[in-house]
Amino acid sequence: MTGPDVLVVGGGLAGLACGRELARRNIPFTILEAADAVGGRVRTDEVDGFRLDRGFQIYLTAYPEGKRVLDLPALDLKPFTRGALVRFGGTFRRVADPRSEPFGAVGSLFNPVGTARDKLRMLRLYRKLGRDGDEDAVPDGPTVDFLAGAVGFTPAMTDRLFRPFFGGVSLDRSLATSARFFRFVARTFAAGPGAVPALGMEVIPRQLAAGLPAGAVRLGARAEAVGDTGVTLADGEHLPARAVVIAVEGPAAARLLGGRVPDPGSNGSTALYYAAAKPPVAEPILVLDGDGKGPVNSLVVMSNAAPAYAPPGQALVSASVVGIPAEDDAELDRRARVQLTDWFGPDVGGWRLLRVYRVPHSLPNQAAGKLDPWRRPVRLARGLYVCGDHRDNGSIDGALTSGRRAAEAVAEDLGPG
Ligand SMILES: Cc1cc2nc3c(=O)[nH]c(=O)nc-3n(C[C@H](O)[C@H](O)[C@H](O)COP(=O)(O)OP(=O)(O)OC[C@H]3O[C@@H](n4cnc5c(N)ncnc54)[C@H](O)[C@@H]3O)c2cc1C
Repeated sequence: MTGPDVLVVGGGLAGLACGRELARRNIPFTILEAADAVGGRVRTDEVDGFRLDRGFQIYLTAYPEGKRVLDLPALDLKPFTRGALVRFGGTFRRVADPRSEPFGAVGSLFNPVGTARDKLRMLRLYRKLGRDGDEDAVPDGPTVDFLAGAVGFTPAMTDRLFRPFFGGVSLDRSLATSARFFRFVARTFAAGPGAVPALGMEVIPRQLAAGLPAGAVRLGARAEAVGDTGVTLADGEHLPARAVVIAVEGPAAARLLGGRVPDPGSNGSTALYYAAAKPPVAEPILVLDGDGKGPVNSLVVMSNAAPAYAPPGQALVSASVVGIPAEDDAELDRRARVQLTDWFGPDVGGWRLLRVYRVPHSLPNQAAGKLDPWRRPVRLARGLYVCGDHRDNGSIDGALTSGRRAAEAVAEDLGPG
């Protein structure tokens, strides 16, 4: 036996979290990553002095697994304002978290994003979010039914607030996404703000990788086939192992494992990044399309939260589109500017388009039923394991949790090292 005990295929957050737990248990392993760096879907590019995350993403400071495995102070997290500005009927209306901003919440009673009763339902919603670990106790169903049925929100409230907000998180404006995922996200948002590391989202996987034993990650190593004896790379090299953990995206895992896990399907997203001389809003707050006309579903000025996302004297605007539009970047940019000029006026014409990111597999599809049970098995056979956000939930926290669970299963099967 010349190879390490364990091969982990994929160096995204799940593979890195798996490696972290294996290292803690003194089990030798190598992470095989096809790309030129670790991080998977959490990468940051530097373009003309701007830091562009590959698609708009935030870290929720109350993520339970994140608190366990990340050194949060070292990430230097820069929070966003709790609440949102909803663009609806030609004006912006502020929706505040009724508990963290009581005065903002009173103000929001007079704005028509929802009815006054909807504001009270918001408090009822918080009581219905449940606790971590309780998810399987409540039957699953679509979020849209949960909001209307269990909580009783009006269709107007759902359309103006929840479609752009949770539709932007789940990348599904139809809200067919599992209410389990909605409750998890809403509960986590209620417990702490969203944030980004001061120097970009990629700091998160880099921190995890830095904590692994030297030489544990092999970059540019694409697995082509997985068998009982180990992994064969794209260049034909065969790497033997006692255990293999497949930590690639859901659709790729289904292919590599010959259908032993289902392809979850994909929810895509598109991000347009603009350089602006002046930020269109003063706060680090999420601005939502309550009209539902698009193409931009949400917008945020990244540099209002994290100044290092833009060079001095400039602002970085991130505009997010749910899905992958059919038109080319130039036409998408044109349509986005028409919408955003209506929101912010003629300054938008002077913004410089920095880059467009289209990410067809941003998240696994999480339609109702797909998260049942909330945590799917990570052990396929003795010696063969699978992790990734498609095993838990489509978030940084889900990926981290699944990686740790897979390492625990490996440790159980291999016995003390
Ligand atoms: C645009 C966008 C916005 C998001 N927004 C948020 C957000 O706001 N908050 C949040 O919590 N989450 C968000 N997410 C989700 C979050 O980023 C993912 O759930 C998480 O990063 C998934 O991690 P993973 O390790 O499961 O998969 P991945 O990050 O996809 O990692 C899989 C790795 O496997 C590698 N790989 C694939 N095939 C092979 C092979 N054959 N051989 C070797 N290596 C291979 C890939 O290169 C990749 O590095 C967002 C994702 C995107 C894309």
